[in-house]
Amino acid sequence: MLEMSLNGVRLAPLDAPEGVTTVTLTDPALPTTTVGGPDLPQERRVVTEIPGPRSRALHGRRSAAVAAGVGSLLPVYVAAAGGGVLVDVDGNSLIDLGSGIGVTGVGNAAAQVVSRAQQQVASFTHTCFMVAPYEGYVDVCEALARLTPGGHPKKSALFNSGAEAVENAVKIARVASGRDAVVVFDHAYHGRTNLTMAMTAKSMPYKHGFGPFAGEVYRAPMSYPFREPAPISGAEAARRATSMIEKSVGADQVACVVVEPVQGEGGFVVPAPGFLPALSGWCRDNDVLLVADEIQAGFCRTGDWFACDHEGVVPDLVTTAKGIAGGLPLAAVTGRAEVMDAVHAGGLGGTYGGNPVACAAALGAIETMREHDLPAAARRLGAMMLGRLGALAERLPAIGEVRGRGAMVAIELVRPGGTEPDAALAGAVSAACHAAGVLTLTCGTYGNVLRLLPPLVIPDALLSEALDVLEDALRSATAG
Ligand SMILES: *Cc1c(COP(=O)(O)O)cnc(C)c1O
Repeated sequence: MLEMSLNGVRLAPLDAPEGVTTVTLTDPALPTTTVGGPDLPQERRVVTEIPGPRSRALHGRRSAAVAAGVGSLLPVYVAAAGGGVLVDVDGNSLIDLGSGIGVTGVGNAAAQVVSRAQQQVASFTHTCFMVAPYEGYVDVCEALARLTPGGHPKKSALFNSGAEAVENAVKIARVASGRDAVVVFDHAYHGRTNLTMAMTAKSMPYKHGFGPFAGEVYRAPMSYPFREPAPISGAEAARRATSMIEKSVGADQVACVVVEPVQGEGGFVVPAPGFLPALSGWCRDNDVLLVADEIQAGFCRTGDWFACDHEGVVPDLVTTAKGIAGGLPLAAVTGRAEVMDAVHAGGLGGTYGGNPVACAAALGAIETMREHDLPAAARRLGAMMLGRLGALAERLPAIGEVRGRGAMVAIELVRPGGTEPDAALAGAVSAACHAAGVLTLTCGTYGNVLRLLPPLVIPDALLSEALDVLEDALRSATAG
């Protein structure tokens, strides 16, 4: 049997458990698929062990057909989702604290996403914007110009995935600056394509064995307050990074500095206040383009429309993806008009980039964010999480730090008394939550961070119940 792990959490064996017979989803004896969306009952309901028999049977089929390199954190097979829950094929209703990795901030199958996508899919599904364009693409670019940080003239180009957006931001920055070097940070995550693997910090599982990687990518030290050997201000941490760049790369060689304003996969690292403004100032003084990778932190997640807004940082280019379209694949690079327009005609694109159905979904998602004031929702949910977990941290020495901004909250687990990472504990707590019907994710360079990314439309009572479960799991895993 193949065993795999993701960020320290052991994944279920890929072979079907013994004695499990394969069922198909058309078996009349089994419940029919529930319609998802916000009207799905918002409740935690565990009716089988997790994963249940139907999920295990599907997992058996999967092991024969799906490449082993594609993992699944929790192999419950989803039948419907909406609001703050995922309902699996066994009828379990799990509280979702992952949002498909920060994607479904507006909730799964959000009403405006569904209606706009349905209308679009019935009109036309694809023409290729580079062949025969359509209005939805322009609408999304106009919305991005309005919503992203800064009041300057902006333009956008649309793509399919976050990694593709990051790659294109680098392409644009290189053409616009006439320089080659790209600076990224410790603990960074920018994707899994060849260039973005070079930009991503963590080897296992993202890069291991996949080299050689793209050149001219340089890594600078991040501001990671919890792991600084001695207290250092944000401005000092920025100076540490920029002096490294000046010495080992040369400021006049650098096309762009790419930074996640709040790091995602690397552990929800929130840089010390002043770090981003100082970095931005150095970039301006040295004609280096600042690229904010807002793929995980953007679109209301941190309590602002974009995480850069918190300190009034205005990047030259912004990459977005995950939260943009309520779950449909869409990504964008948005930036200063003159930088974006530096690229020769035909230099940017791709068959599916800015697909009309994905654009329609994005317009529905943005409408939902605005109408339901999801930045405010993120701040309210964040205050709930930080309040509860902060109080718990004072009583549990294995909680090294609770941090985050808005509804992007992390619990960094350590061996009591120091900062030595405890990935096994993060795995155990996560597994206990899963068994109790709460979907949590882990992350972090050391795999020791539990991260909470609830849909921004989760009912308060449901989040509170999930926090009860998490608290119990943390207490029992650290007792004895
Ligand atoms: C997820 C992520 C990416 C990559 O996005 P994909 O759509 O998975 O390619 C890039 N940057 C950040 C910050 C991310 O969180």
